[in-house]
Amino acid sequence: MKVKLETRLLGANELIAHNNRTIFSNQGVLVINLMSSPGSGKTTILEKTISRLKDQIKIAVIEGDLYTDQDAQRIEQQGVKVVQINTEGTCHLDAGMVSHACQELLADNPDLLVVENVGNLVCPAEFDLGEDLRAVVISVPEGNDKITKYPLVFQRADVILVNKMDLLPFTDFDVARVQKDIGLINPKTKIFFVSARNGDGLEEWSSWLLEQIHAKGRTKLM
Ligand code: MG
Ligand code: ZN
Repeated sequence: MKVKLETRLLGANELIAHNNRTIFSNQGVLVINLMSSPGSGKTTILEKTISRLKDQIKIAVIEGDLYTDQDAQRIEQQGVKVVQINTEGTCHLDAGMVSHACQELLADNPDLLVVENVGNLVCPAEFDLGEDLRAVVISVPEGNDKITKYPLVFQRADVILVNKMDLLPFTDFDVARVQKDIGLINPKTKIFFVSARNGDGLEEWSSWLLEQIHAKGRTKLM
């Protein structure tokens, strides 16, 4: 019975995700589902990315968190519109939550909508939100084995950011091994090595993101 229920839930999610995707497509807004385990630096990367891009494009953010709005407050300080989703213990966002949260944000006609998922590498990977791109962050202090232990989220990633590269000298993190592990399960994904703390790699990441936004935004003119 449990298995059946889970299948039905995912089926309902697919329908809403499909509907979200149509709405995002009609508006020409690029939507990113940002995922990682807790503490790998999603919010800091987002803050730094917003500060680099906010003069060129309009950005909106949905912050998924279990109970608090701490991350939403940090993002708000960057001067962009944020809607907070508190999942009250649910460890992932689903398409229905995003459908509700995005309404007032889309009224502003943003070029980019970032959805920061709940910090968790397991079930966020299973729930399509209707996004264009799945971005997954791993950080150097988490160690080498995340890719092989949580393959689904990395398999489905369009882009992977390896964060906290400034800590590399203090750990046994093996860059070559991580590249090889990603290559085995998802050879097409784009990889950026960054440090949100000192800014390394953020120029390359932001330029790539801007290209994706412009490509999607062209549909706005049609
Ligand atoms: Mg966060
Ligand atoms: Zn979950």
